[in-house]
Amino acid sequence: MLKRFLIRLWRLAWWQKGILAGLGALAVVAAGYVALKLYGNTQSNSGVYIGEWFNNRGDRAHLITTREQCPGAPFLLPSEGFIGLLWRDPDGPYTVLHRHSGIDIFGDGDPGEVPVYAVYEGTLTRLPEWKSTVIIRHDDPLHPGDTIWTYYTHMASEDGKTSFVDDAFPPGTSEVWVEQGTLLGHQGEYAGDALAPVGLHVHLSIVKSEPDGSFMNEADINNTLDPSPYFGLHLSIDGKPDRPIRCVAEH
Ligand SMILES: [Zn+2]
Repeated sequence: MLKRFLIRLWRLAWWQKGILAGLGALAVVAAGYVALKLYGNTQSNSGVYIGEWFNNRGDRAHLITTREQCPGAPFLLPSEGFIGLLWRDPDGPYTVLHRHSGIDIFGDGDPGEVPVYAVYEGTLTRLPEWKSTVIIRHDDPLHPGDTIWTYYTHMASEDGKTSFVDDAFPPGTSEVWVEQGTLLGHQGEYAGDALAPVGLHVHLSIVKSEPDGSFMNEADINNTLDPSPYFGLHLSIDGKPDRPIRCVAEH
């Protein structure tokens, strides 16, 4: 049986063998992706809440975390909303091999309506090519003398044509002092590709410094810090916290 199958395979033309090999490789990649997703789902409960948030506009306010400062925490949330994807989250579009580097706060409103504020005092920079993003350099309140950065993005319309970053911070802004709570802009849906809007939210990550003092690439989880101790909120996916996220001290 197997022998006959192998002989038949051997007699196929080279291009037929090529097509078979290609299909085989595709099947292996697809199966690997599905396995990764299933494994990721055992580590995250975020997808369930995100589905609830977007499918239930009329009844979703109970998922919102307010912007009250948690006891003893230096940072204040940048926006009011449902904290959907958490730090290290493997839920879609992320995987266990490419985890989410920050937190996603989904505001209850329309694009350009939900304000985004500075989480802590520092100096703000907006690179000339940034349509929807700003970054703020801080003296690390938990490790004085260290420099950390907070990175805010998705502040533009879904096609990227209208920026929702505040007019006070035009492209090319460099090292402008801001206080905690300074208005930075408003939430949007743009993530660098007009064809792939991401749903109204702001993404925030805490980014480490390069040895020369510049900010690291925030897309890599290894270049970011767990925001939980800075906000006093359970913001890591470890332990799969229920939503709304609440102050750690209240548990
Ligand atoms: Zn995000």
